[in-house]
Formats: sequence, structure tokens, C-alpha cells
Amino acid sequence: MVTLDQLVQYAKTTGYIFQGSELYGGLANTWDYGPLGSLLKQNIKNAWLQKFQRETPYNVLLDSSILMNSEVWQASGHVSGFNDPLTECRKCHQRFRADSLIHEHNPEVSAEGWHNEQMSAYLLDHHVSCPNCEATDWMPIRSFNMMFQTYQGVVLEQANQIYLRPETAQGIFIQFKSIQRTTRKRIPFGVCQIGKAFRNEITPGNFVFRTREFEQMELEFFVKPGTELEWFDYWKQFCMDWLIDLGLKTDYLEFDDHKPEALSHYSNATTDIRFRFPWGFDELWGIASRTDFDLKAHQTHSGENMSYLDPDTNERYLPYVIEPSVGVERLVLAFLANGLDEETLETGDTRQVMRIHPALAPYKVAVLPLVKKEHAEKAKHVYKHVSRHVDAVYDDTQNIGKRYRRQDAIGTYLCVTIDHQTMDDDTVTVRNRDTMAQIRLPIDALRDHIEQISAF
Ligand code: ATP
Repeated sequence: MVTLDQLVQYAKTTGYIFQGSELYGGLANTWDYGPLGSLLKQNIKNAWLQKFQRETPYNVLLDSSILMNSEVWQASGHVSGFNDPLTECRKCHQRFRADSLIHEHNPEVSAEGWHNEQMSAYLLDHHVSCPNCEATDWMPIRSFNMMFQTYQGVVLEQANQIYLRPETAQGIFIQFKSIQRTTRKRIPFGVCQIGKAFRNEITPGNFVFRTREFEQMELEFFVKPGTELEWFDYWKQFCMDWLIDLGLKTDYLEFDDHKPEALSHYSNATTDIRFRFPWGFDELWGIASRTDFDLKAHQTHSGENMSYLDPDTNERYLPYVIEPSVGVERLVLAFLANGLDEETLETGDTRQVMRIHPALAPYKVAVLPLVKKEHAEKAKHVYKHVSRHVDAVYDDTQNIGKRYRRQDAIGTYLCVTIDHQTMDDDTVTVRNRDTMAQIRLPIDALRDHIEQISAF
């Protein structure tokens, strides 16, 4: 497995991910996705939509606002409870999340669900030291609300204060009735949403693993109470299969089922899918059975009846919900860490390869005229043909060996070379990134070939 530093360097030099605002000295923990990274993000989102929405009979899509009425966040519990336990080292004045300090001190211990006083006592009793200066003197723990606040309109007054959403889920809950009414979906059904979320994290870091602005892909799956644990298992496996089908190594993945005492008060089952990141196993995807907590909270707060009437049995109930929630950037990091490889060839040379599933590879195809001038016209014709269907790149600089290496390093799955024979019979050489094997195909067969290899 590569180190995090190698990965950051790789992402920067290839054009996957750049530091944000670099021209002005940067803005801490912000990142811009370059020509390759933005395509990778797009492909991850498309792969998620394909399996979680398009190919299931159950799920529909929503695209809700980032800015919402503040009442939403009061009802959901975020105003009063979306807090991280913040503590500060008395010596160096660095700030940390107390639950993370405890878990790093003893990985066997999870402080999820603990009161601030419990955590303070643990830090003291176990002489937990500051990761920065090793002192063991901590300020009392304060609850720090992670929602970003802003103002709507021209007057900066309390009444106009709103929040940037810290998750996409609440947008789904507040439209549950409209979605059900207009689609006439019957339970069980789900609503998928992809969008930006903002959290004023105390300790962002590990490259794009934890940032203050990120993108979530969430499914809220509504079920009849009593069936939720079956559906929880169903979506748990569904998420794991999606990751494995897209090439994550199985020994880099594990379920972390939360123990009953570590469950949030509204949840009767929660698991994280953890991936082996360069610093060790860490949360990639959270999957929670959230009972009717959210719909009930909005029903109570808004006064609107959020229940569902089963047209077959005439039963009326508040649906329970299963929520698989994953961050696009954590997936980017996982797929890059999983795929980056340096290989020694029989010739003794080394080659860098980004082994990423063709469905996710920024470019499926590189179109390469063997001789720049002689083969350009035909190569441009091939490029036009394939780029109508998939992302492709055209490269006519340097010798063919160097061009192959360059494409291997960024993960381009096929290199299509236009050579002397192409001029005679309209066939091209197609080289595979992983095996380096070459086959000859008619130009007209390229599209089918690319579609086949990109399927998952
Ligand atoms: P953590 O305990 O790591 O703070 P969480 O359990 O609060 O995360 P959830 O609220 O369950 O996270 O969010 C669902 C998913 O959204 C996470 O599994 C992760 O993939 C992603 N995510 C959450 N916070 C961030 C962040 N600050 N940066 C990037 N991705 C994030």
C-alpha cells in the first residue's frame, strides 16, 4: 500500500487533485479536483446512480437545496445536537476531538455516545497525552456545533440566519410526502440524492478523507416497521458488493458493526464499511437503521402528518428508514490508494500503473497516431468516433512507449494506436493497461469493446 504522502504527490503531479487556493497560499484542507479527478468523481457518481437508482425497481432521485429553512435543523436535532466534543491542550493550545483522542489512545475503546464528563474523566485517568506536545493537561470539553452558519438577504440579523446543510438526508425527509404522492411509490421504496454537504470539522485532514466541504451520496430507504433489519442487511451487502465489483480489494474492506451500547439513540442497527486507507482501517461508508426518528421529528415539529397509508391493507404507519451514506471524496481516496501500483517489468524497467476499474478510469481510451503527421487524419477520425460515447484523450507527443507509460500512470484503460496497417484496412492496435497485451480490432468494433470492458 502506498503512503499518504506518495498519494498526495501522485494526485498533484498527474492532475487528479490540487491544493485549493494554492495561488494565494492555500486555504487549509480545501482541494480542487483537476482534469482527471473531476472525471473520476463524475464516474463514481454515475456508477452509484447506475446501481442504486437506475437498475433497482425501488429508488428514485432528488436534488434538494443546500439552503433550507432553519426549522429543518431544529427538527432534525442538528441545532442542539450536531456537536463534536472539543478539548484544548493547556500547553500548546491545539484543539482536538476528545472522542478521537480516546480512540487513538486505545483503539479498543469507542467514546461514541459518551457524555463530555465521561470523556474528560477518561483523558485525566488514563493520562492521555497531546499528539502535538505530549502534555497531559486538558481544558474541560465543550460541545462544538459543526454547522456552518450564514445569512440570507441583506440584513445581518438573527431572523435571517440559516445553515449550509451538514448532510443531504434531511432534504429527502422533508419531501418524503411529495415524492411518495407524485411517484405513487409503494413501500418499500427509496430516495437517492447526491450533493454537497458542509461541516465545520475540528480536525480535518488525511488529505481528502475529512474536509469541511464534501459531497455525499445518500439513500433513504423507507420500509414497513418490523422489516427494517432485513432491509438493513440487504443494503449492507449491496454497498459492499458495489465496492468489490468496482475493484476494491476484499482484504482492504471490512464491516464494523456498532455494538448496542455504541448505537445512536435513534438507531437499532448501524455498521460502517471500513477501508484500509494508508494510515489503517477507517470509515468509508456509514449504514444505519434509523427507525422512524427523522419522519417523526419532522411530523412533531411541522405539525404535518408524515404517515403512509398502505393501499392494500389500509394500515397507516410512519415508515422506518435505512440510510447508507457515503462521501464521494473518501471513495476517490480509496480507489486511488487501492489502484496505485509500481511494477517491475521483465526488462528490469519499472512502470507506474493506476489500476482502476475501467468504469471509473477518467479516460477509457487514449488515441495515439503512431507517426504524428502521417496518421493524424485517421487518428482524429477515430477520436471523434470514440469520444461521442466515452471520455477519450488524444496524444501525439513523444515516442509510443512513453505515451503508453503516461496513460498507464493515469489509469487510461485502453491505448488505441493508429499505424500503417490502419491506412490499409481500418483496423487499430488495442493495448490493455493491466496486461499490456495487444489485439487488433476494426475501428467499427471499438465501441462495443469499450462498452463490454466498462460493464460492472
Ligand atoms: P465521522 O465519525 O468520521 O465524523 P460520521 O459518522 O459523522 O463521520 P456520517 O454523518 O455518517 O459520518 O456521514 C456519512 C459519510 O459521509 C461518511 O461515511 C463519509 O463517507 C462522509 N463524510 C462525513 N463527514 C465527512 C467529511 N468531513 N469529509 C469527507 N467525507 C465525510
